[in-house]
Amino acid sequence: MLNGKTALITGASRGIGRAIALKLSNEGASIAAIYCGSEEKARELKAEIDKNGGKINIYKCDVSNFSECENIVKQVISDFGGVDILVNNAGITNDKLVLQMGENDFDSVIDTNLKGAFNMIKHCYRNFMKKKYGKIINISSVSGIIGNAGQANYSSAKAGIIGLTKTVAKELASRNVCCNAIAPGFIKTDMTESFQDNENVLSSIPLKRMGSADEVANLAAFLASDLSDYITGEVIRIDGGLAM
Ligand code: NAP
Repeated sequence: MLNGKTALITGASRGIGRAIALKLSNEGASIAAIYCGSEEKARELKAEIDKNGGKINIYKCDVSNFSECENIVKQVISDFGGVDILVNNAGITNDKLVLQMGENDFDSVIDTNLKGAFNMIKHCYRNFMKKKYGKIINISSVSGIIGNAGQANYSSAKAGIIGLTKTVAKELASRNVCCNAIAPGFIKTDMTESFQDNENVLSSIPLKRMGSADEVANLAAFLASDLSDYITGEVIRIDGGLAM
């Protein structure tokens, strides 16, 4: 489905990003996997994709750093010849009520989760314009749609991702570039470790279970493929019905 395509995926070392890297690779894409702190995990991902006969390079980059992103995108374009699919998945949480939330608690989450996506889009923008083709997939959250107590920083960033998605979709539509957002609910990863299988959480989800990273990866593969060519500027929830 994705033969001949190159996918640049941020936060590919763990969780949802790792599952997306494996899925897109299985579908035939070459993978440029960005990690930040988890070099060993990134190497494990590379070993797995190498073993399966896929193509992958791993790159260390802090997505909140504008010039680091610029350098890495240049390197990826030089290594692979271009980027067809950009998945802005890297993200962090730092949950506190506004009462306890300091300036740095707010800024660090905005810088990674929102500015990080802007940085990668900004530096891939000319590549997409020249190619007259592209699929940009931004990972938002249901917190960005309905809000969540304790997540003023995170839900602001994830709501910002939705605005960014729709704006980029409008700017690049004439160049045949689609830009969509995925808004997951509770997905089993390191990020949600502290409340997995918590009865209050499970009872709030109509499907009565958390989602898996592989289920999010299936949706990302659809949005990365030509099956979704007439979808742009859309936000797709994958949340077991949580935010309906
Ligand atoms: P995770 O398991 O904690 O993984 C986070 C990933 O982001 C890691 O690969 C990490 O890389 C990377 N990352 C963090 N800061 C970075 C930075 N400054 N620069 C580059 N990479 C950075 O989280 P996850 O659950 O898979 O979440 C992935 C995305 O889905 C996030 O955007 C998250 O907000 C969103 N999401 C998750 C859920 C959920 O329930 N899990 C729900 C809604 C939305 P290193 O380890 O290499 O530093």
